[in-house]
Amino acid sequence: MNTAFITTIQERCRVCYTCVRECPAKAIRIVDGQAAVIGDRCIACGNCVKVCSQMAKQIRRTVNEAEAVLGSGRKTVACLAPSFPAAFVGIPAEVLVGMVRRLGFDWVNEVAFGADLVAREYRTLLANTNGHRYIATTCPAVVGYIERYQPDLLDALAPIVSPMIATARALRALHGENLGIVFIGPCIGKKAEASDAVLAGEIDAVLTFSELTDMFAQRGIAPETTEPDAFDPPHGGLGALFPIGRGLLQAAGMSEDLMTGEIVATDGRAHVVDAVKEFASGDLGARLLEMLCCHGCIMGAGIDNDLPLFNRRRQVREYVRGRMAEIDPGQWQRDMDRFADLDLTRGYTSKDQRIAAPEAHELEAILAMLGKTKPEDELNCGACGYDTCREHAVAIHKGLAEAEMCLPYAIEWLRRTISKLATSNAQLASAQEALVHSEKLASMGQLAAGIAHEVNNPLGVVLMYAHLLLEEASENGAMREDLTMIAEQADRCKKIVAGLLQFARQNKVVRYPVDLRELVDRALRPLAVPPDVRIRVCTAADDPVAEIDRDQIIQVLTNLIHNAFAAMPSGGTVTITLGGDARTVQIQVEDTGTGIPPELHKKVFEPFFTTKQIGQGTGLGLSVTYGIVKMHSGDIQLKSNADPAVGPTGTIFTVTLPRSG
Ligand code: ADP
Repeated sequence: MNTAFITTIQERCRVCYTCVRECPAKAIRIVDGQAAVIGDRCIACGNCVKVCSQMAKQIRRTVNEAEAVLGSGRKTVACLAPSFPAAFVGIPAEVLVGMVRRLGFDWVNEVAFGADLVAREYRTLLANTNGHRYIATTCPAVVGYIERYQPDLLDALAPIVSPMIATARALRALHGENLGIVFIGPCIGKKAEASDAVLAGEIDAVLTFSELTDMFAQRGIAPETTEPDAFDPPHGGLGALFPIGRGLLQAAGMSEDLMTGEIVATDGRAHVVDAVKEFASGDLGARLLEMLCCHGCIMGAGIDNDLPLFNRRRQVREYVRGRMAEIDPGQWQRDMDRFADLDLTRGYTSKDQRIAAPEAHELEAILAMLGKTKPEDELNCGACGYDTCREHAVAIHKGLAEAEMCLPYAIEWLRRTISKLATSNAQLASAQEALVHSEKLASMGQLAAGIAHEVNNPLGVVLMYAHLLLEEASENGAMREDLTMIAEQADRCKKIVAGLLQFARQNKVVRYPVDLRELVDRALRPLAVPPDVRIRVCTAADDPVAEIDRDQIIQVLTNLIHNAFAAMPSGGTVTITLGGDARTVQIQVEDTGTGIPPELHKKVFEPFFTTKQIGQGTGLGLSVTYGIVKMHSGDIQLKSNADPAVGPTGTIFTVTLPRSG
C-alpha cells in the first residue's frame, strides 16, 4: 500500500487548491482548510508535488532503505532509469556511473536493457492479441489509477512487468537471488510499485534522482573528482527511449497509426484519465492504448532541475543517439536471446476506491447549500480545484471537499459575516456609550448626594427664617421685597436639592406587579394641566402589567409629561400610549410641542442640561428618568422633529421596560 508516499507540510499549505485541481485521482481531501493526501486513493503520480508553488508536498524519503541495502553485506546493484540524462544535465553518463559506483554498489546497470526486454514482450503480445484490447503502460501511476478507479479494466492491462522489474529479474538471473537491488529513477510511483504485494521483494529500495543527488552531497561525491566508468552489461538499446512519450512503441517497433487508430498513445494526467474512461466505454476503438501519466518519465517529480519538457527530451535523445552509435548489435542480440525465457509477466489487483455518486436530490441539496439553485448560479469557475460546480458538489458528498472551497460561496459568507460583525460592533458601541453614561451618572449621583445632604439642613434654616422674617415684616416695608426674594430663591434651591437627592437615590428598585393603566391615572391625578393642553391615553397592550418600582416610574412619567407641557407654550396634545409584547411593556409620551433639534438629542439626558429659563428648570428631569429606566434594565428612546419645514413638530419619548426583573 502506498499510504503516505506524499504528505503535506501543513505550515506551508496556503490552500490554493492547485493540488486538488491537478490530482487525477482526486486523492486530496480538504479538511479544516488543509490539503491532505489520502494514502489509499493516491496513485503516487507526484503531480501535486510538482504543481505546489509553496513546496508544501513532500515525498517519503527512502535513502535509509538504500543505505541499508548497501550496508547489508550482499552484492548490490544500482539500476539507473533511462531518464537520467534529463536529470543530470552536464554530467557525462560515464562520470555519473562512476559517482554511483563510489556509493558502494558492485554493479551499475541501465534499466534501458530491461526496457528492451519489455518492448520485446509487448511486440509478442500484440502479435497474438486474438482481438483482446490492451492497455500498455510501464507507468506505475497509470496502473495505480486503473486498479483504484477502473478495476473493471484490470484484464485489459498488459500482464507485462515494467522495465524496472524486468531489469531486476534479469540481474537476479545473472548474479543470484540474494542480490540487493536499488532502483534509481525520476518517479515517486516506483516507490509504490516496489512495495506492491504482487511484486514484493523484487526491488530492495527505490531512490529518486533527487535523493541520489542528496546522497552524493552527503558523501562529498562530486563529478570533478570522479573517474569516468562504464555501465555494467547487459547494455540497453532503444529501450532507453522509454521515458519519452511513445518511447515504448518505438522501442517495440510499433507506431501510432492515425489512419487505423489501432494503437493510441497519450500522456499527461488529464489525457490519461479521459483516455482510460473512453477505453472503458469502448469509444476509443483502439486495440492498444499506451499511456504515461507525466509527459514522459522525464517529467517525473523525482527530478530536481527546472529544465523544460523539450530540452529534457533532447537530453535523452542525444544520449540514446550516442549510445546507439557505439552499441555492438551482435552482443545486444546475444544478451536479449540469453533472457528469452525470462518470466516477465505480472498480475494486478483491484484496490477499488470508487465512491458512489450522490443521488440527484442529494446533489441538488448540496448545490443549494452552496447557493446554487439555478443553472446560471453554477459558474464553473474552477477556483475550488474541480472543473465544475457539480464535480465539487459530488466531492463534498464523498467527503473529499468542503463548501468553503467555493469562491462565490466564501465571498457571500464573508459578506454576511462582515455585516453581522458591523451590527454587533454597532451594538457594542451603543452599549459602551450607555455604560459610560451610567458611570457618569453614578459618579455625579454620589457627588450630588453629598452636596444635597450638606446643603439641605442649612437651606431649611435659611428658608424658615426668611418666612419668619416675612411674617414679621410690615406689609409695605422696604425689607419685604428683599425678604420675598430671599424666600423665593431659597425655595428654588430647595427644589434643586430635592432633585439632586432624587437623582442620587434612584439606584434602588423595589419591584412588584403594577398595572400601567392605574399608574398613568396616579401620575395624571395631581398634575395641573395647562389650559390649552389636551391629554389622551391609549392602551394598545392587552396586558399592561409589569414588575416595576411604581413610584419611580410615576416619577418618569411625571418628568416626561412636565417636559411635554413646557414644550407646548401655546397648547397642544399629549398622548400617552401603553403597549408592549410578551417580554416587555412600553410607555410612550408624545407631544405636539416645539421638538428637540437633533444636535441636542444626546445632551438632554445629561444632568443639569436645560434650555429652560432660570428658575424654571434644573436640568435633572431627563437624567433622573434615564437613570430610573436603566435601573429597571429598560431603555428610553427619543424621536423628535423641531423643524416645521420637515413636518409637524413634536417629540416622542418611548420607555421600554422588561415585564419582570
Ligand atoms: P429640565 O426640564 O429641568 O430642563 P430635563 O432633563 O427634564 O430638565 O430636560 C432637559 C431639556 O430637554 C429641557 O430643558 C428641554 O430643552 C429638553 N426637553 C425635554 N423634553 C422635551 C420635550 N418634550 N420637548 C422639547 N424639549 C424637551
